[in-house]
Amino acid sequence: MKYHKIPDEAVRRLPFYLRGLLTLSGRGCKSISSRDLADLLGFSHWQIRKDFSYFGSFGTPGTGYDIEKLIKQIRKILKLEVVRKAALVGVGNLGLAVLRYPGFQVYGFEITAAFDNNPKKIGRKVGDITIENVSGLCGLKKRGIDFGVVTVPCEAAQQTFDALVAAGVKGILSFSPCQKTGREKVKVITIDIAMDLVRLPYYTPANPKRSKSR
Ligand code: ATP
Repeated sequence: MKYHKIPDEAVRRLPFYLRGLLTLSGRGCKSISSRDLADLLGFSHWQIRKDFSYFGSFGTPGTGYDIEKLIKQIRKILKLEVVRKAALVGVGNLGLAVLRYPGFQVYGFEITAAFDNNPKKIGRKVGDITIENVSGLCGLKKRGIDFGVVTVPCEAAQQTFDALVAAGVKGILSFSPCQKTGREKVKVITIDIAMDLVRLPYYTPANPKRSKSR
């Protein structure tokens, strides 16, 4: 099976499948049909069947998909079989919230280092992590840190990207949306909360009394 043949859109859905399957596993479920999984996750069952067909054959007629096997396979495809370490750069309000968020570990991700350029922040502790001077980013490789999380303001994003790429990271999760591209060498995924927020009113009924025109 050549994983690189899995389309990007299907890869995007894999973490959702993983989360759903982990929940089911936690409830003691052993197998599930594509229809039941579709109901749980809000995808269509044909979409799920099509996505799973990329992995090989996991469904047994009448009994559905083996949950543990699927979890193992999705972890393998996402390369989450080992703990993945990440460094966060920019321990402001957003950075702090991301750093304190406990929800990455279940997927095998851990933020193990944090960096800032503000002397007042360097040396402070957030949980077990001591905030380091951003000049120390060059040592990431030696510490087994392969991923960067960027929560600096826009104007500092480019230099942060450059430093992370120079430090040898393999991927960057960026919360600095004005950054156009990463470097071609590394995969950059950008989270732009404002872009999701501003399309929300489009889906809501208009309320003429309360709406103020701009
Ligand atoms: P605060 O006011 O506490 O700094 P904030 O969330 O308003 O919080 P931002 O201006 O968004 O701060 O900056 C986010 C964080 O990024 C800050 O901690 C800031 O010191 C840090 N930062 C800014 N530029 C850089 C840089 N070039 N390298 C590393 N960290 C940086």
